[in-house]
Amino acid sequence: MLAVIMAGGKGTRISSVNSEVPKPMIRILGKPILQYQIECLSSQGVDEIVLVTGYLGHVIKDYFGDGSPFGVRIEYIEEREPLGTAGALYYLKDRINDDFLLLCGDVIFDIDVQRFMRAHKRRGALATLFTHPNSHPYDSGIIIADGSGKVTGWLHKEDERLWYRNRVNAGLHVLSPKILDLFEEPKKTDLDREVLKPLIQSGGLYAYDSPEYVKDMGTPERYYAVTEDVRSGKVAAKNLSVKQRAIFLDRDGTINKYVGFLKDISQFELEDGAGEAIKKINESGYLAIVISNQPVIARGEVSFDGLDEIHAKMETLLGREGAYLDGIYFCPHHPDSGFEGEVKELKIDCDCRKPKAGLIFRAAEKFNIDLSKSWMIGDGKTDVLCGKNAGCRTALILNGGGENSFNKTSPKENSANETSPKENSANKTSADVNSPKDISNEGTSCARALNGQTATVQTFGADLVGSSLIECINAIDLS
Ligand SMILES: [Mg+2]
Ligand SMILES: [Zn+2]
Repeated sequence: MLAVIMAGGKGTRISSVNSEVPKPMIRILGKPILQYQIECLSSQGVDEIVLVTGYLGHVIKDYFGDGSPFGVRIEYIEEREPLGTAGALYYLKDRINDDFLLLCGDVIFDIDVQRFMRAHKRRGALATLFTHPNSHPYDSGIIIADGSGKVTGWLHKEDERLWYRNRVNAGLHVLSPKILDLFEEPKKTDLDREVLKPLIQSGGLYAYDSPEYVKDMGTPERYYAVTEDVRSGKVAAKNLSVKQRAIFLDRDGTINKYVGFLKDISQFELEDGAGEAIKKINESGYLAIVISNQPVIARGEVSFDGLDEIHAKMETLLGREGAYLDGIYFCPHHPDSGFEGEVKELKIDCDCRKPKAGLIFRAAEKFNIDLSKSWMIGDGKTDVLCGKNAGCRTALILNGGGENSFNKTSPKENSANETSPKENSANKTSADVNSPKDISNEGTSCARALNGQTATVQTFGADLVGSSLIECINAIDLS
């Protein structure tokens, strides 16, 4: 497999860290960024690398030579004048005849390269962008894609936007050699605007969503943050070939305020502290994944597109608080049929409606998640049972307002809750993954102080209870 690395960048913004070397040679814990890249690629089946150099290119050439100490063959293309982020591809026209990786020499990443390549080939794409959610989508370019991953829109930083999914181009790509036909002469070319974005028309551009670690070092602050992530092992731990840990989150009454069946986007408002809680999950390295029953689809009250727009609003609002979701899974089904306006084919007894664990199992397969080291958090009995059926630990939010939640059984004005989360030590039975069962009657009760009175609420055997998502997250050891 071949990788082309654009290593000609000058890196002026980061000159306060080190101005003596080209940007890809900036060191993290004593090792150049480019070496991290080459080692990662080499360990995963990339055996040929083309380095496109410019500014102080001889420094790069002197360090890496022909690549043999790193287990790869390295060739160099030296730009006499800067050709932008893509112009040098002209020189590869007659040299490449298979899909190849294209990346920038100034990002730190650790990704499952073969998985990325497989996704590209499976779709027969002309180009595949590695995309991920980030903590500042409001000032990032946003990629819009349909359910199959086909890119349908590309918003640049300056483009107007209302509600949008948090999907940002990370700067890693797989390209088909057919792309090289577009280059007719060696001239300055912008990869994003002049090569990739125009591919949307042909339907050949795809997004590959992944939570793996990819970060650039555009500013000194980001440089120091990335250094810390390399040091702590977070960069390597996010590679999807390594088992992941996740916090699965119910939606209504957990992330957003409970309003019964949420049918209109204007009803969607974040719960207090939800952004802070999810940001904390993001920073811990756990995946944040929504697991939600949305029978409003089967009931014919919300369309799939309408739900997507609601989720775009959720991601936009979370993004404003620096928080993001790694995945959103929902069940559109409902078992009881015979109502007016319903969508007949969705009125089925599916395997994904909570308390069944089908959605969690799907996420676990996609993201290689160790469920025994993961949590399910929600405000209803079905959330706790779903988490147990998946073999996760569980936390119950008492003040969500949803089905079976605390507010259902007590007046609203009594919902003030001063107690701190506590371990439900009386109930430590682990779930039997293979035989889901209703354990609601086995759940212990938990006494809560309510305006001086004591009320008893069912906890359905949850490992932990709290009054809100942030209270639960603060009580969970995310280290
Ligand atoms: Mg709920
Ligand atoms: Zn379902």
